[in-house]
Amino acid sequence: MLRLHPFRYHRPETVAEAVQLLAQHGQEAMPVAGGTDLLPNMKHGLFRPGHVVSLNRIGELRGISTIAPPSNGHRPGDSFVRTTGATGGTAGHLRIGALETLHDISAHPDVRRRFPGLAEAAGLVAGPQLRNMGTIGGNVCLDTRCTYYNQTAFWRGALGHCLKKDGDTCHVTKTGKKCVAAHSADTPPNLIALGATLTLAGPNGRREVEAADFFIADGIRNTRRAPGEILTEVRIPLGRPSARSAYQKLRQRKSIDFPLLSVAVAGDFANDGSVASLKGVVSVLGARPRLLSDWEGLATGKPLNAGVIRDLAHRAWQQCRPLENVVGDAGWRRAMVPVCVGRALEKLAGLGTRPDR
Ligand SMILES: Cc1cc2nc3c(=O)[nH]c(=O)nc-3n(C[C@H](O)[C@H](O)[C@H](O)COP(=O)(O)OP(=O)(O)OC[C@H]3O[C@@H](n4cnc5c(N)ncnc54)[C@H](O)[C@@H]3O)c2cc1C
Ligand code: SF4
Repeated sequence: MLRLHPFRYHRPETVAEAVQLLAQHGQEAMPVAGGTDLLPNMKHGLFRPGHVVSLNRIGELRGISTIAPPSNGHRPGDSFVRTTGATGGTAGHLRIGALETLHDISAHPDVRRRFPGLAEAAGLVAGPQLRNMGTIGGNVCLDTRCTYYNQTAFWRGALGHCLKKDGDTCHVTKTGKKCVAAHSADTPPNLIALGATLTLAGPNGRREVEAADFFIADGIRNTRRAPGEILTEVRIPLGRPSARSAYQKLRQRKSIDFPLLSVAVAGDFANDGSVASLKGVVSVLGARPRLLSDWEGLATGKPLNAGVIRDLAHRAWQQCRPLENVVGDAGWRRAMVPVCVGRALEKLAGLGTRPDR
């Protein structure tokens, strides 16, 4: 049986208290929301925090609401430090508190109507029990995953450990230079495709980061979140009524499994049905989701028909090279890139639905 180590459990009731506790205990402390990833990781000896700060009593972190654009571009009382390109909420947006569960997000009528890709992604995470506990904050801040990392201490020790934890070499790249553990969370590719902004609270106040800038290509620590910061909310610009989104997940079984590949697409369409804008994001390749490039020339001004979808899927295949960092043969996963991108785009175009694997 895998046991948890002893630790102090804190239950602050405000963001300020939580930030203060994290600052007070420094590297000894970690926040926990639903605990569906942190607790298994603690049982595997991947983290041994002496202080676990629960976010569950913090009312400010809850709620899903549509916020109309403010007349002067600012919300009353806001004092944000803006980082690279963050919108600051000047357009109307959907606000999702970091503690909202994946189940509630997937079932929320506004999310389903405006952002079907995000609703689908949240509804495909793990299984029902985990979606009832798991939160969007925990999903965005999810640790990277790897075949050689998400194992017991005994298993990892038999291999001499690895760069990400207790060792000095990477079993995937066979070097000691870089960890390429995979970003494996379902909702962030959608948040990137939808142009979402994340709000972080820390000892120096609050700041906003675009979801597209939040992740970095470092499997050991793959986000720009500072250790003492907590994610408080996600804001997604409402966009035009003609905007659409879709998600496609590749996994071993149609339940409980992490993605082997994930594809989020979001687009806007002109009155004549032609593509006005289009974004595609593929994940589980390396430590950060990949925004696909060079799609505009292939799709803008054209109808999203079978030929255009085939060209876009091929362009994605050229850009994506999965590694042997998660279960599933890397060559097969690469061959599935155009298949999954094509299926996501078919959903976006309304060309009929396909199963999610
Ligand atoms: C069997 C199994 C299958 C799974 N399948 C999937 C899957 O298919 N897709 C998928 O995406 N995930 C999957 N997960 C992982 C997990 O259930 C989800 O990612 C979930 O959304 C995590 O949310 P949580 O609230 O439980 O996070 P927690 O476990 O509480 O936290 C996860 C990490 O985020 C940090 N954290 C949590 N909230 C915040 C916050 N507000 N601010 C800052 N840091 C925070 C924690 O410190 C921790 O490092 C699976 C887990 C299991 C056990
Ligand atoms: S990618 Fe390499 S260093 Fe990173 S967890 Fe896997 S084996 Fe370890």
